[in-house]
Amino acid sequence: MAGVNTPYLTIDLDKIEHNARTIVDLCDQHGIAVTGVTKGVCGYPDVARAMLRGGVTSIADSRLENIRRLGNAGIDTDFMLLRVPPLSAVDAVVESIDVSLNSELATLKDLSAAAIRAGKIHNVMLMVDLGDLREGIWPDDVMTFVSQAINFDGIRIKGIGANLACFGGVVPSEENMNQLAELASVIEHRFSMTLEWVSGVNSSGLEMIASGKMPQRINHARIGEAILLGRETIHRKPWPGTVQDAFVLHAEIVELKQKPSLPVGERSEDAFGELVEFEDRGKILRALINVGREDIDIHGITPLDSRIDILGGSSGYLVLDVFAMEGNVAVGDELSFTLNYSALLTAMTSEYVTKHILTGVANSVEQ
Ligand SMILES: *Cc1c(COP(=O)(O)O)cnc(C)c1O
Repeated sequence: MAGVNTPYLTIDLDKIEHNARTIVDLCDQHGIAVTGVTKGVCGYPDVARAMLRGGVTSIADSRLENIRRLGNAGIDTDFMLLRVPPLSAVDAVVESIDVSLNSELATLKDLSAAAIRAGKIHNVMLMVDLGDLREGIWPDDVMTFVSQAINFDGIRIKGIGANLACFGGVVPSEENMNQLAELASVIEHRFSMTLEWVSGVNSSGLEMIASGKMPQRINHARIGEAILLGRETIHRKPWPGTVQDAFVLHAEIVELKQKPSLPVGERSEDAFGELVEFEDRGKILRALINVGREDIDIHGITPLDSRIDILGGSSGYLVLDVFAMEGNVAVGDELSFTLNYSALLTAMTSEYVTKHILTGVANSVEQ
């Protein structure tokens, strides 16, 4: 693309808005509000705005820095902090976050003190561990936890939630979602309170929502990947009605030569300490492009042109077999790739990858 340094990532805001609307409409039909998750794009403000145009009710991110970035960009919505806060950041959390996810009484105690100092009420969502074994209060301990949490001034329990398919790979099921719904009812009854949100799922829950099997009491979802990349996260299948190429990585051919497919000479491990297996394909046409492991998860990208085969990469190069494109490629050509979540996250984090916003009307380069 003229005037843009390679490598660069194009971000199509209309596609993100479209994906958000598709997911929001589905969830809406099942009584579920959607918070859009921007941690996969480091809280990139234009992406959050596109999600909000697509109908998400608020924005969540795992990092305080990302949420501050969104706030500084003038985005006016409720912000949810997904990663349970460290004690060292309670003042900052109360200052810039509307709802934080929590699983420790010690943290609630300090958040309470911070809220009182700031003259604010801080909303919390108590996380329950339904078996995925990342964050959350074990179900047996939830009632005792709530009985103490309700005593903290300055803290309001906005809801309970659970996160699945992240550490243990446990999928949302009627059993675990009913367990969360049941816990919500018991809490409301025992403590005479109303839980505004019962937040069951992330992008791994879309199949269950669409199947109509989600218990009615589950009324909130936190969705990132399905909006950004158009995939549910159990089978990583494209989600119906969404697009998978809102983000595309572009890099440039900097060397193009016929070379053997097997290394010549005695071999040891590569630059990353790995002993790489090579397949003898005879003499092939090889392209080096100017993106590498320092920029992206090289295992997480897929060439848009199926004639391209990725052979491997080092910190600054990817090595490609472009034999099937012989006669149709040249040094200076740009090649394009779609990304999985890991590749997207690394491309967004790399300061060497220029971010280039595409919209229906205007283009602008941002870093
Ligand atoms: C990352 C995250 C999400 C979003 O997950 P996706 O699979 O991207 O939809 C939701 N909730 C929590 C707690 C998270 O950390």
